[in-house]
Formats: sequence, C-alpha cells, structure tokens
Amino acid sequence: MLPDCADVVVIGGGVIGASCAYYLAKHKIKVVLLEKRDLASGSSGACGGTIFLQTKSPGPNLKLALAGAERFRHLHEELAADIEYRNHGGMIIIETETEYDAMVRWAERQQGAGLDVALLDANQARGLETALSPEILGATFSPADAQVNPWHLTFAFIKSAQRHGAKVYTGVRVTGIQTKSQRIELVETDQGRISTGTVVNAAGAYAARIGALCDLDIPIKPRRGQLVVVEATHPLISRCMLSAHYIAAKFNPDLARKGGGVSIEPTAHGSFVLGSTREFVGFDSRVTRAAIQHIARNVTSILPVLKGRNIIRVFAGLRPYTPDGLPILGPVAGLDGFVIAAGHEGDGIALAPITGELIADLIANNRTDFPLEAYKLERFDPIRAEDLE
Ligand SMILES: Cc1cc2nc3c(=O)[nH]c(=O)nc-3n(C[C@H](O)[C@H](O)[C@H](O)COP(=O)(O)OP(=O)(O)OC[C@H]3O[C@@H](n4cnc5c(N)ncnc54)[C@H](O)[C@@H]3O)c2cc1C
Repeated sequence: MLPDCADVVVIGGGVIGASCAYYLAKHKIKVVLLEKRDLASGSSGACGGTIFLQTKSPGPNLKLALAGAERFRHLHEELAADIEYRNHGGMIIIETETEYDAMVRWAERQQGAGLDVALLDANQARGLETALSPEILGATFSPADAQVNPWHLTFAFIKSAQRHGAKVYTGVRVTGIQTKSQRIELVETDQGRISTGTVVNAAGAYAARIGALCDLDIPIKPRRGQLVVVEATHPLISRCMLSAHYIAAKFNPDLARKGGGVSIEPTAHGSFVLGSTREFVGFDSRVTRAAIQHIARNVTSILPVLKGRNIIRVFAGLRPYTPDGLPILGPVAGLDGFVIAAGHEGDGIALAPITGELIADLIANNRTDFPLEAYKLERFDPIRAEDLE
C-alpha cells in the first residue's frame, strides 16, 4: 500500500531514479520511488556500462562527464556493493584514413580541454591490445575511461536508498500530477495518490509523457540501441573499445542511419557486450536481424578472434534522447516542485551518480556546487515540433 504523502516522489526505477532516491534519502528526505514495471526494466537494464570520457565534446558535455567519472572512484565503498567498476582505460579504434584525420583533431580538442588522451599508431595500439586486427590504422587511448555493471549499479543505489529510509514501489504507474497555483500538489497512480510538493521526473525515454501530465513539453524521445552478448572466453582484451565511426554517428543521425559503428565491452565475467545501433523507431524495443549482422560484421573486423564465437543473447534498449545530446537536469520555470532528471541518451549509467547527487543537493539545499544552467529545460525554448517527431 502506498503512503499518503512524501517529501519527494521519484518517478522511474532506472539508474537515474535509483541514484536520485539514494542521494535524497541520504539527505534524510522522505522519498518514495515509483516504477511502473520492475527496477531496471527500462534502458538501465538493456545497455552497456562504459564510462567514456574521450567521447565527450569539450564544454558542458565533458564537464559533466568528468564530474560524473570522479564520483565512481569510491562509489562501491559508499554503496557497500560490488558494482564491477574497472578503470582500465578505453580505446577508440581507427580503421580508415578519414577517421584518422578526424581523430587527430578530436584528440587535440580533448587534450586542449585537459583530458589525458593519446593518439597511438597501429603498432602501439596492438601493443596495448594484442587481439586487435592487423588491419586497423591506429587508436586513441585514455586512461580516464572506465566501466561498471549497469544492473549492479542500479540495484546498489536502490538497496542503499532503502537502507537510508527510501520507500520503493514497483508495478505502480504514475497516471496524473495535480498542481495548484503552479505548484506540485499530488501524484496520482493506478494504485492510489500521494500528496507531495516535489516530483522528480526520472522516467528516461518516457519523460516527455510525464511532462505532458502537467502540460510541459519535454523534448526527450526514445532512441533504440540493439546489443549482442557473446559467450565468455579467456580474457582477450582488457578494456572497452569504440570504433571511431561510433563517435561520429552519435552526433550525426545520417551516419547512424547508415550503420553506427560499434562498441566492444569485455565484462567482468569474460563475456562481451557488443553494440549498438542508434535508431528512431518510437517505443519499439525489438531486435532486428540486420542490426545483429551489422554489429557482428563490424566487431569482427576490429577483433577477428571473436569470429565463430557464440552469441548468447540479443536485446535492445531505448535511450532517452535530447536534441543537443545533453541531459535535462533541474527545476522548471513556472512549475514549483517539478524537477527533471532525464534525457541522458547513451551516458545515463556514467552520469547516474553525479545526477543523483546534484538533484538531491538542489532539492535539499536549493543550490548545487556544479552549475546546472547549461542542462535546464529552458535551453530548448521554444521546443520545435520536428524535435519531437
Ligand atoms: C544499447 C544501449 C547502450 C548503452 N550503453 C551505455 C553505456 O555504455 N554507458 C552509459 O553510461 N549509458 C549507456 N546507455 C544509456 C543508458 O542506458 C541510459 O542513459 C540510462 O539507462 C537511462 O536511465 P534512466 O533511469 O533515465 O531510464 P530508464 O532506465 O529507462 O528508467 C526509466 C524508468 O521509468 C519508468 N517509468 C516510465 N513511465 C513511468 C510511469 N508513468 N510511472 C512509473 N514509472 C515509469 C520506466 O518503466 C523505466 O523503468 C546505453 C543505452 C542503450 C540503449
């Protein structure tokens, strides 16, 4: 049975809602988290776990990612959980001359912004990872890149939140939000109502639907990503990799449509999480044969040793996409008590700790040490219809 009231209602039991609930509960705020299905049943349970810094463009994107990466260093101690955090660095693999030229410029920009990134020739790259194809032209390497297990992270946040007094309810769908004089008053669900002055919209790809419950336009839409899991082997590589094409496709929908490059993530158990597509197909989270073939073909051109290995699982998640690639964080002008923590696209796992911490600081203290201006909803004003198609 749901409680009658709460200081804060968090909508969404993915990694972002879980993190917000944890940091809010740590502030001794009476928080209730509502999830319409199961915990981590959205994007947070159907994704990779890379914490890549060298993929972020200098500016608000890299600044938030740097702050986020820092939070991971002692997180497993704080949450008292094995979240499979590993900081072995990451590589971006270069396969063509055009990519090489682009990556030289990209690495220079990253270095200019203070990030530790090195450009490696083919021999140096294969010196780091001997399983790489002899056909590659080079790679960039950053020791700052890392990885984590997204499931373990989400559940670690939830358990720690509960230890601090948060109440977590699954199978409860938020169906309405009542306001009075431009303030949040009440959250309606399919199982009852909760009076509250503050709502955190952490509904991921569904965040626009939550916004619509109180007449807010939030430019977040689902961007499907398909992934392939390959059976465990003895360790073949020790760090996460992306193809240079993957970076380009992240920022260029035309390239994504033509095939978005690949990501390669060796897990703590020896299996490989290989991905992924970037597709606008509404809320369709099915996998397609074409995408699986595309991923398999492109991954084996980088790591030929994976040829012939068994695929043990395929799945797809819906990234919460925003038109400028940045999440939407913070309060909303003209609607007191409505706070957004959504739109993290392909970085929500990496940005979960910093997001929860900032949102909780904002609600508890009405201020944050990290400026949120660049991430507010108002940057999209006015929202264009084509952004929401
Ligand atoms: C293929 C793929 C690969 C990825 N790889 C990475 C990666 O390597 N590194 C990284 O950092 N990120 C990665 N991501 C991105 C990451 O998965 C997301 O950014 C992150 O999971 C978003 O978390 P969230 O909590 O906002 O959303 P979700 O996990 O989707 O959670 C939102 C929750 O809200 C619930 N909800 C919605 N509406 C309601 C309602 N009305 N009432 C109650 N509950 C509701 C949903 O059921 C859902 O569980 C990847 C994503 C994909 C798809």
